[in-house]
Amino acid sequence: MSDKSDNLKRMRKHDARAIEKIRARIRVAAEAKSAGISTMACPRCNGSLKENIFEGIMIDTCDKCGGVWLDSGELEQLLRRDSDSWFSRLWFAEG
Ligand SMILES: [Zn+2]
Repeated sequence: MSDKSDNLKRMRKHDARAIEKIRARIRVAAEAKSAGISTMACPRCNGSLKENIFEGIMIDTCDKCGGVWLDSGELEQLLRRDSDSWFSRLWFAEG
């Protein structure tokens, strides 16, 4: 057998292993998502983040410290719903 075909076999084996690792990660993420558990750890205390819906927006809440984490744009979405609040006026204030 030539070196070339040996290399090719090795590469295919390596690719198959990498693909299986990615599939396993996707499986874990999908199972966690269906159970309402985020795959991310709390950046403050390393607790588990659980997804909750607040005012129709998905937020991540830590089961250990109670911290609430918002994805990009979610705070703005929440504030736009209550545009009369002091925090909303402060957040969207110009200057
Ligand atoms: Zn936490």
